[in-house]
Amino acid sequence: MKPKLIPAVAYLRKSTKGTRADGTERQENSLAQQRREIEQFAAANGYIIIRWYIDEGVSGWKRDGKRPQFDRMLREAKELGDFRVILCDDIDRFSRAGVMDVFTDLLTLKNGGVVALHCVKQGKYDLVGAGQNDIGRVLKLVIDIHGGNDFSRKLGRRLALTRRNKASEGKRSGGNAPYGYNNGEKNSGTIVLGDPAKVQVVKSIFNRFVCEFHSMLYIANELNSQGVKPPRGKHWSNQTVKNILQNEVYKGTFTYNLKKTGEFFILNKDGEVVEAPERGPLRQAWKPTEDGVIRHHDAHEALVDQKTWQAAQDRIASFAKSARLRTRETPFVLTGVLVCDHCGNRMYGVDVKKKYNGKVFRHTEYRCEGRTRFGASVCGNHTIREEKILPFLMERMKAEIDEAQAELIRPKPERFFSDEPVDNTVSELEQSLRVLGEKIRIGKEGLLLEVKHARLRNELSDTVNEWLTEYDALEEQLLHAKNANKPLDWDNAPITDQLLVELANWRKWCEDSFSHDRLGTREVFRQLGAQVRLRWTCEKKQWGKEIRNYYQLATDCSYRLGEQQASLNLAKVHQAPVEGSSNCNRGVDRSYSRTGKG
Ligand SMILES: [Zn+2]
Repeated sequence: MKPKLIPAVAYLRKSTKGTRADGTERQENSLAQQRREIEQFAAANGYIIIRWYIDEGVSGWKRDGKRPQFDRMLREAKELGDFRVILCDDIDRFSRAGVMDVFTDLLTLKNGGVVALHCVKQGKYDLVGAGQNDIGRVLKLVIDIHGGNDFSRKLGRRLALTRRNKASEGKRSGGNAPYGYNNGEKNSGTIVLGDPAKVQVVKSIFNRFVCEFHSMLYIANELNSQGVKPPRGKHWSNQTVKNILQNEVYKGTFTYNLKKTGEFFILNKDGEVVEAPERGPLRQAWKPTEDGVIRHHDAHEALVDQKTWQAAQDRIASFAKSARLRTRETPFVLTGVLVCDHCGNRMYGVDVKKKYNGKVFRHTEYRCEGRTRFGASVCGNHTIREEKILPFLMERMKAEIDEAQAELIRPKPERFFSDEPVDNTVSELEQSLRVLGEKIRIGKEGLLLEVKHARLRNELSDTVNEWLTEYDALEEQLLHAKNANKPLDWDNAPITDQLLVELANWRKWCEDSFSHDRLGTREVFRQLGAQVRLRWTCEKKQWGKEIRNYYQLATDCSYRLGEQQASLNLAKVHQAPVEGSSNCNRGVDRSYSRTGKG
């Protein structure tokens, strides 16, 4: 027997431009295509489409009157009441200028006998349900439309507009004053000279760089050894110095929109507030571009004159040319794996070329980044040759996996009992999340009820938005806390056999990659999440005599096994001397530095 078809209408909207509720740019399908999709969708779900409502060239923000077909649909739902379901391709077709508008629209539809909103993308939203609070359902739908991103987007747009308008008058809209300055009087939008010591630091940085031709690293190093506190973080780095040298604020210029940091809205090259294009997965700030930058010269007191500032830029530009030549084809296998135990910074790879007796010798070595970035006051000159450390590590990795396999075969080893007191960070965070979630829920409900007082509503929505940001941050913390040092619970662990198979695969992969290519090897280290801390314990003897370096290696490997993400935390200290640099390879146990294979 053929089931009875449910009468439905379809609502289509084609906007000139726009983004989805999640902030991504919409690739507009043509109306014909949307229509085909909805027709198929209706047929598959047992609906008969009795009418089409199509609004063209409008965006979801537009208020009443600008979406004539949408309004017609509301009217006809009330007057004719001949359809039960509305079909559309995406829930954000329904987004309106305000939460209240959506709420009223949905209530109108519900009173007109509409029972559900069925979206191709998000699925079905019931407006009426057995035993459920109907208002609650509508509320959920409204929050789905307006919750999260969409909610912040609107706020973001408003803020972006306000900031833009202030900036075009040469006024700052809050935020910390740049290093060496303080914010002027409240709401003045200006900055004034700050701590004289800091002012002096900025001046001396320019002076050292431009007049005395010191490197940025030298300057950073000097500031570190003088114990000068950097604008952020613990140490001055060459980047910190560079940021100061490149900041136009020090020549008295006010800039706005140089870094396009807006999450949803940025200024385009014409200075209009537009929706931001999709960002990369790292959510990094935009590269500074000249598009839509607002500048006011002589906006405040300068710390250096135009000429000095420009000289600094020219000198920096001259470095950039040589840096571009430093790109490399083959990857450094151990970059990001090796960590200097003296300062905690990563070690990075370098290709070294040396001439000796007319012959050229090449090797790859890893150097402590702490030294390079922050200077000698932070760390010593620690290097290790790849040919010395890599074979040793490859052997260790294989051994670690073999050990993990052996451990899994043993029945219920002691380390799987979690006698230790459970870390209560997780439960604390979960509690705060619950509390905050409740606050947000109540806040959102309050928003729906507070119709008349625009000011109150704005205030409330600001607060809710703050909570939402806090919520996101807490959630991230929770994720971290959950993943950190998770004891493997034997009873709930993934099936041992499965783990063993995974480990066997890993072992095989390691062997294949290690013997084949550098890229593969690097991938193995990355996937294993291997981190190796190196400590240099050096017995120096008299100049010209033997110098020995002994390395104490600690490998802390957390293994990720397939999708299960069962992580075995194998923290072990291997007290094995490994030869370190070319001039200290005598009298050292060499057994680890061989691969073991012929
Ligand atoms: Zn170091």
